[in-house]
Amino acid sequence: AFDVLVVGGGPAGAAAAVYAARKGIRTGVVAERFGGQVLDTMAIENFISVPYTEGPKLATALEQHVKEYDVDVMNLQRAKALVPAARQGGLVEVQLENGASLRSRTVVLSTGARWRQMGVPGEDEYRNKGVAYCPHCDGPLFKGKRVAVVGGGNSGVEAAIDLAGIVAHVTLIEFDGQLRADEVLQRKLRSLPNVDVKVNAQTTEVFGDGRKVNGLHYKDRVSGESHRLDLEGVFVQIGLLPNTEWLKDTVALSPRGEIIIDERGQTSVPGVFAAGDATTVPYKQIVIAMGAGSTAALGAFDHLIRTSAP
Ligand code: FAD
Repeated sequence: AFDVLVVGGGPAGAAAAVYAARKGIRTGVVAERFGGQVLDTMAIENFISVPYTEGPKLATALEQHVKEYDVDVMNLQRAKALVPAARQGGLVEVQLENGASLRSRTVVLSTGARWRQMGVPGEDEYRNKGVAYCPHCDGPLFKGKRVAVVGGGNSGVEAAIDLAGIVAHVTLIEFDGQLRADEVLQRKLRSLPNVDVKVNAQTTEVFGDGRKVNGLHYKDRVSGESHRLDLEGVFVQIGLLPNTEWLKDTVALSPRGEIIIDERGQTSVPGVFAAGDATTVPYKQIVIAMGAGSTAALGAFDHLIRTSAP
């Protein structure tokens, strides 16, 4: 059995594994895809102390750092169920889709999240070539350009306000007849001179010149007319879905499906900790996930020294 079993191999999971292994305890990582969302990222310019790197390069560095230590890395394995310990201080079980089952005294859940996609032509083709999901990450790349934000909930309106300070012009596109963001955000949005809001607007296509985005089509859901916007960027803000479906019967989740944690990363299940984008932590970023993964591993270590036989 492991002392710490980490589920997920993104920035949070890698940090948890390094912190646990450095305590000299039996550490394992099971990951569906080691590297996580970082693998899908191009330029990274906010990984503090590294002014510029690229996703695949950082993902390789994460794996190399983990492999500096005696960590059992089980890549390309998906967890399908968590079984809490039968008694205080007992073993927690993680069942894998391949039929195997792993046991550990503590578990760190770091299965991350995925951005909900629009599912329209051009979205996949122009991902990282104008189609973006993270305004904190990619906003500065669109300095002085025209962009659209798709989604009029809190994250979409926050993104539009944030981007309006950087880019030349923002069009906010909302499917519904009205924005769903908090009133105070909507007021702020409407006060900005370089923002247009389109409601009842359904994005139907993102298009470009083969290399980069240069426009977007949306349909006016009232008149049925199709409109074209000329722009260089599309920020999709229609939801971040935590990869926690497999935990819904065992671990307390927020209404959005995020794993509820305390300041040590402890979940509702004794001995089970969590970190990163899969949790209720505000702001989903690489440096934040790494800090949280470290916290969860130290929380797990604290738990181990308190529950082991003297
Ligand atoms: P993830 O990176 O999502 O990793 C989750 C891990 O869990 C993966 O290994 C996955 O395979 C695994 N997993 C999931 N389900 C299971 C399961 N059931 N069983 C086993 N393993 C499982 N942040 C920045 O700070 N700067 C940026 O420039 C930046 N750019 C981004 C660009 C894009 C296109 C995207 C999508 C995100 C970007 N982010 C950026 C956000 C950043 O990537 C995330 O905040 C960060 O990766 C979260 O780390 P995590 O470890 O919590 O989760």
